[in-house]
Amino acid sequence: MKKKLSWQQALQQCVTSLDELASLIPAVTQLISTAAQSSFPFKASRRYLAKINPHDATDPLLLQILPQAIEMQHHSAFSPDPLQEHRYNSLPGLIHKYASRVLITLVGSCAIHCRYCFRRHFAYEDNRPGTQGLEAIYEYIRAHPEVNEVILSGGDPLLANDAVLQSLTQALSKIPHLKRVRIHTRLITTIPERITPELIHALTHTRLKSILVAHCNHPRELDDDIAAACNTLVQNNITVLNQGIFLAGVNDNAETLIALSEKLFSCHILPYYLHSLDAVTGSAHFDLPLERQRALYTTMQEQLPGFLVPKWVKEVPGEKHKVRMG
Ligand code: SF4
Repeated sequence: MKKKLSWQQALQQCVTSLDELASLIPAVTQLISTAAQSSFPFKASRRYLAKINPHDATDPLLLQILPQAIEMQHHSAFSPDPLQEHRYNSLPGLIHKYASRVLITLVGSCAIHCRYCFRRHFAYEDNRPGTQGLEAIYEYIRAHPEVNEVILSGGDPLLANDAVLQSLTQALSKIPHLKRVRIHTRLITTIPERITPELIHALTHTRLKSILVAHCNHPRELDDDIAAACNTLVQNNITVLNQGIFLAGVNDNAETLIALSEKLFSCHILPYYLHSLDAVTGSAHFDLPLERQRALYTTMQEQLPGFLVPKWVKEVPGEKHKVRMG
């Protein structure tokens, strides 16, 4: 029987070499761009890579991670900081954009590098809170009673070890006006081994309600181990939601989006958001015309029960909340 990996071992085994990518997926050999790689390096977990058809250069999972020359084309509407997060970066490691919640960029790395990530150019090196920075963040939250929810983001906050997460949730739970801690993570679908008893302990032995928000764009990203990990979370009273993005070449057809919602639900995950693409430099080839997004969303509404239709939203810098698109 194959020995199960720990999440740390799975993380260590992530593929970062383009040569190794080409040996695993021969279809990419002619497509890899080293220029795109130097702008945002390639990285993916072995679990994710194993789901790619090695002979299909248009595989929707492959396109999400493949550094391609097309990323280097200039598009005036696309910029390094499309959500203008620098305007809301109140302290190193803290973004306060919407009134009732703040976001902590806890960790600057991920187990997968998504080519459309709106933080692909984010200055993580200036935004590592560290121990002293976290104290300043707690102080900031204490001084803002309107904040009732903390979002841990990144990077991938679940790359922090359990002791760090435990101490963070404990410290946050002492701030009386906080109600919830929300964790945005792609580890749950790329390295589900991360859902350990110690993590569950950190997320449940706190007065705060814990929510995990996964990020999945195609039903083939999901598998039985992910379903089992999410079941453990749900059994422990942790809400599990998903946010996805309309992505050309990845999920730009109604069958895929409907199958994604159905598969998420069978894995104990509720569809939460379906974002329009954030216009980050290097991602224009994923952009889908608005009318196409609208047609797809209408079909989803027609064919899915309401609880499986994610909210279609767009982030617009300066707005006080995400903008509903449909
Ligand atoms: S922050 Fe999330 S979307 Fe961005 S590269 Fe990391 S896992 Fe992908």
